[in-house]
Amino acid sequence: MRFHELSIQETHELLSSRKVSSEELTRAYLERIHRLDPQIKSFVTISDELALKQAKEADKRFKSNESLTALTGIPYSAKDSISTRGVNTTCSSRILENYKPFYDSTAIKKLKSTGAILLGKNNMDEFGMGSSTENSGFFTTRNPWNFDYVPGGSSGGSAAAVAAGFAPFSLGEDTGGSVRMPASFCGITGLKTTYGRVSRYGLIPLVSSFDTIGPMAGSAYEVALVLEMIAGHDPKDSTSRIESVQSYSESLKKSDNLRGLRIGIPKEYFVEGLDSEVDGSLRTAINQIEGLGAEVVEVFLPHTQYAIPVYYLILFAEASSNLAKYDGIRFGLSERNADNLMNVYLKTREIGFGAETKRRIMLGTFALSAGYYDAYYLKAQKVRTLIRQDFEKAFETCDALITPVSPTTAFRIGEKITNPLDMYLSDVFVVAVNLAGIPALSVPCGISKGLPIGMQIIGPHLSEDTLLRIGHMYQSQTDWHTKHPPCWND
Ligand code: GLN
Repeated sequence: MRFHELSIQETHELLSSRKVSSEELTRAYLERIHRLDPQIKSFVTISDELALKQAKEADKRFKSNESLTALTGIPYSAKDSISTRGVNTTCSSRILENYKPFYDSTAIKKLKSTGAILLGKNNMDEFGMGSSTENSGFFTTRNPWNFDYVPGGSSGGSAAAVAAGFAPFSLGEDTGGSVRMPASFCGITGLKTTYGRVSRYGLIPLVSSFDTIGPMAGSAYEVALVLEMIAGHDPKDSTSRIESVQSYSESLKKSDNLRGLRIGIPKEYFVEGLDSEVDGSLRTAINQIEGLGAEVVEVFLPHTQYAIPVYYLILFAEASSNLAKYDGIRFGLSERNADNLMNVYLKTREIGFGAETKRRIMLGTFALSAGYYDAYYLKAQKVRTLIRQDFEKAFETCDALITPVSPTTAFRIGEKITNPLDMYLSDVFVVAVNLAGIPALSVPCGISKGLPIGMQIIGPHLSEDTLLRIGHMYQSQTDWHTKHPPCWND
């Protein structure tokens, strides 16, 4: 049986009716990864042994019919910035190449206790810095739809793994679009959660005030199944939200239209530079959503043009401070071929970090230095507030916004890597959401020249239920999320 063609719900049916064991399922996924991933390179680590051990434990649970959930026995993968006990967690950086955390992040711990199976860890841009996975310290992941193109970033390995049928779902991390953009480039569904909805404990930080963990899967319904398992307050993360977690998947079963919802279309997101086919697909999708009963209105987000400079400034500053701890003494790589302690620090960082990471550390250190702090960091924080207020104002007149995820479909490997500014600009539609801390869902809504197009659905804090409802209803009427890359059939 070709398990990767089944949804999580269908796989769950097979497991609970004991037509297939989790061990059988896990072996099939591992076999597929070993056979096909050498071309795509979505995994940094494949945790065969652990996966089989977890699968056997899951099978015992099925046998005794004990504490079963929709994810018991279901395999998944996780971005390599999410700490996994005893399994390499590298952030795709040389500086953490052999780092094995001695604890699980809360999200992984929750999946473990529900009996899900960790297949391995996915490639990413080093520490989450990039939009293509080309900044990985190890290798570039290829887009399963066309191997000459990038899968998006920074959670490109996670998106490629789901799109290629290597895992039914993956956990990604979104600081400035890293779940949504690769989801869009690879034709899958990805959710950037409200800041604090999923605990950040054990997520290796890039920008502590933006970072979020979010599910990536084949459909909004599957994203809902994962979200309800990993969300919730965590005493170990003081920024996690205390509100109780809804049963997202149950609510989806109840809705059969979008009546009563008002959808805002922000004029600032449909501007010059937006590819005409992306624009066309979005407009068709908006009409379909209107056809489901939603009312469509125009809204304004006047400070949108400042999102990129403000995002990158705050990122440089916070990242430079977060990355200061990699000194060759406490974690991972340690260059001991040095005559004094200072040179251990310097050489380790020189060898361990890639070019983009060094660029950002230097810019951030500059922006935070005495005399410049007020002019850059403080100013950026003030504009961040204006951007957040734009969204608050828009949500006074509508329940959610629809925009493109990216101005274009996936770009070619090598196309933007030599021009960092060009790479930063590809994030133009995703970063404002992180500045505001609000959730956003990326849903496939078209294909242009063999590459997927994504639609972004943005909502106010903790509106994951509404976003999933819109995504789910849209997917019940369209089939873009059921299209797969050619390698799906291998
Ligand atoms: N493209 C963004 C950046 O390079 C992605 C950040 C993220 O979400 N991890 O900063």
